[in-house]
Amino acid sequence: MDVQTTSTTVRAYTVRDDCIQWGGHINQRGYGVWRGKLVHRIAYEFACGPIPAGLVIDHQCRNRACVNPSHLRVVTIAVNVTENSHSFSAVNKAKTHCPKGHEYTPSNTSIRANGSRACKQCRRKILPFGA
Ligand SMILES: [Zn+2]
Ligand SMILES: [Zn+2]
Repeated sequence: MDVQTTSTTVRAYTVRDDCIQWGGHINQRGYGVWRGKLVHRIAYEFACGPIPAGLVIDHQCRNRACVNPSHLRVVTIAVNVTENSHSFSAVNKAKTHCPKGHEYTPSNTSIRANGSRACKQCRRKILPFGA
């Protein structure tokens, strides 16, 4: 069976994990660049239309060199920063359990001064007389 896939119709790309990997120049931040423009933005606009002002393209697949429009979505800059960030708060926010496996429930969670969460069950073990 002869299936026309994106990879065969567009020679600059190779398919990896369903991503369409940009085969051209990749900039320092890992984004594909074509003629000085970000390729994933071109790919999105080509497939979905103009990107509204003030919005940015987010790679849902986390592969910045990917130009598969179905992996791309428009988000506000704030969403992109929060969800993409590997910063402490973003990683921490995604956790549902402490390193020892206790669930972060409201009654089992205390918020430290720096905004991170602390597991009360773990604290009880460190401080057996209560904190
Ligand atoms: Zn992708
Ligand atoms: Zn714990």
